[in-house]
Amino acid sequence: MQKGNINVTTENIFPIIKKFLYSDHEIFLRELISNAVDATQKLKTLARIEKYKAELDNSTINVSIDEKAKTLTISDKGIGMTADEIEKYINQIAFSGAEEFLDKYKDKADAIIGHFGLGFYSSFMVAEKVEIRTKSYQDGAQAVKWECDGSPEFSIEDIEKEDVGTDIILYIDEESKEFLEKAKITELLNKYCKFLPVEIAFGKKTDWKDGKEVETGELNIINNTTPAWVKKPADLKDEDYKSFYKELYPMTMDDPLFHIHLNVDYPFNLTGILYFPKIKANVEVQRNKIQLYSNQVFVTDSVEGIVPEFMTLLHGVIDSPDIPLNVSRSYLQSDGNVKKISSHITKKVADRLNEIFKKEREDFEKKWKDLSMFVAYGMLSEPKFYDKAIKFNLFTNTEGKNFTWDEYKEVIKETQTDKDKNLICLYTSDVEGQYTFVEAAKAKGYDVLVMDGQLDSHFINHLETKLENTKFTRVDADVIDKLISKEDGAESKLSGEQEKDLTSVFKSQLPAEANYIVMFEPLSEDSNPVMVTQNEFMRRMKDMSALGGGGMGFYGDLPDSYNLVVNSNHPLVEQIASDTDKSVKKEVSPIKKEISAVEGDKNALEKLKKDKKDEEIPQEEKDQMDDLNKKLDELNKKKETVLENYGGENKLIKQLIDLALLSNNMLKGAALDKFVKRSIELIEK
Ligand code: ADP
Repeated sequence: MQKGNINVTTENIFPIIKKFLYSDHEIFLRELISNAVDATQKLKTLARIEKYKAELDNSTINVSIDEKAKTLTISDKGIGMTADEIEKYINQIAFSGAEEFLDKYKDKADAIIGHFGLGFYSSFMVAEKVEIRTKSYQDGAQAVKWECDGSPEFSIEDIEKEDVGTDIILYIDEESKEFLEKAKITELLNKYCKFLPVEIAFGKKTDWKDGKEVETGELNIINNTTPAWVKKPADLKDEDYKSFYKELYPMTMDDPLFHIHLNVDYPFNLTGILYFPKIKANVEVQRNKIQLYSNQVFVTDSVEGIVPEFMTLLHGVIDSPDIPLNVSRSYLQSDGNVKKISSHITKKVADRLNEIFKKEREDFEKKWKDLSMFVAYGMLSEPKFYDKAIKFNLFTNTEGKNFTWDEYKEVIKETQTDKDKNLICLYTSDVEGQYTFVEAAKAKGYDVLVMDGQLDSHFINHLETKLENTKFTRVDADVIDKLISKEDGAESKLSGEQEKDLTSVFKSQLPAEANYIVMFEPLSEDSNPVMVTQNEFMRRMKDMSALGGGGMGFYGDLPDSYNLVVNSNHPLVEQIASDTDKSVKKEVSPIKKEISAVEGDKNALEKLKKDKKDEEIPQEEKDQMDDLNKKLDELNKKKETVLENYGGENKLIKQLIDLALLSNNMLKGAALDKFVKRSIELIEK
């Protein structure tokens, strides 16, 4: 037996390995099994190029637990090691054997897993002693046993071993007892080894017999050595992709919408399959994540930084030996290869969607509802994706018809261009709630889009910055005649004086919960007499602040603000105007007379001081002016009070306002109840 020290530079490496190198102790299993797979594939390569002549009938890697001895053993029938190789590859730990091998058999080597640096030594994270029993494939090789208890001291001796290959025996330490549990190892094998390219057996398959679990003779193979993504797309049917999806996510019921098979070999190596899942209406935390592999070894399922954020909504597998694996996230994000991979995947995804759209539009449209949020998210966050996706992003109107942007432009060009040559896209964010407005727009020959997705208010803003001379206006943003402003409209049948009076009259009956501004519009006689609209800009600002848009807090704090639009050409409004004139004349005309007298005095005074500087005006005149203004205020208030008192008792006005609120779905609770009772009363009359 020979004893020695592991290369001196390693003196302090064990505590580092144990504590810091891998926060996840469990990855030791991935490392050891990767080495075993690696060794097995090397031997297969040698056999293929006839450097190894013996039969290679069984290359299954065995994982086993011995609870009594407290050992976990990984046995492979791979290339094995001679004592010299142990010295070179294990004792001098900085030296990676994979590199040398690759160099030697560059073109023929199966993919070799050599990315894990200190792989073998990670076993000391969970073991107090590690034994390697190995026999090299080389003719007449002497089998050897290497042993180390975690100190830099090791021993090596000759042993008897029948088969070529390596057993790694871990004497699991007290703190790591969980790795002697069958369930734990099963879990880890499932996580890291599910798609390794060499069969891995963990004990025997079991059966239930007479209420007891008994072993069958069959090996319990835990992996699928040829997962769908390593096969050629031409060899796979739609069903195969679907069943692979189930294999990846056994707990998921829904089938994916589409898949993309990635296969890149220049300028980097990458394979994989991405799936578009049905994305439910809200951006819920996605349980199924994209899994990242390196030559079929599971690495991670947190791919942030490797694929663009919107892509993390996708499911599936990406496999690339070119992604540096054991480095920090911030390094990953600045890595040139990773950036290339990211933009490549974005491009592939967009191209694939475009292809499906072109070839199978009907199917694409059917699935659009489940896909639209993903596409909107991508268009919002990746300019390159936007440029491609604007060709297949669908706009859906209230009739359920879908259009690309180019198609839609043609549909609305004639009818929905305003006097400033802007194309106005009308949309509703709530088909039911904005029904009256949608119907009014349709009656006028306009088309209305449904934009009720969670991202749509952001998406609309984004589209406006991208699409030239195009604006989006919600159907209830204004009265129908002004929604798309054409040439200047009709004349009002009310005088300015009348509109002023009616403003006070209507004000008396406005709901208190929000801000209302009374305004008059000379609309056609068959438009509604009173309508409630909400300014597009203000509404959007509030929507955005509700979604947490940066810097929008100010708008979010404002109360809701609406316009009460009174149609000054509607017969009912005309009637109210003349009723008002008649009813309040006796009281209001003397006040109005007084007002014009005061205004006359005021004008005269203004003329006097017109050319004078402030200090030249005598104090007396200034006081007089203040008095007049005060008087004017008082008189106006008096007039308004008379009008408001009149309005406050006018049931017709209240009824018209309530009808307007009702068609906006804004009449609720007690107000609605009162409306119903008042309506009955009015009918009974
Ligand atoms: P890496 O895998 O990055 O090369 P490791 O420390 O895991 O680093 O392994 C060092 C070397 O030891 C490997 O490159 C390989 O040559 C050798 N080795 C490790 N495990 C085995 C094994 N099961 N069979 C044959 N050789 C092995």
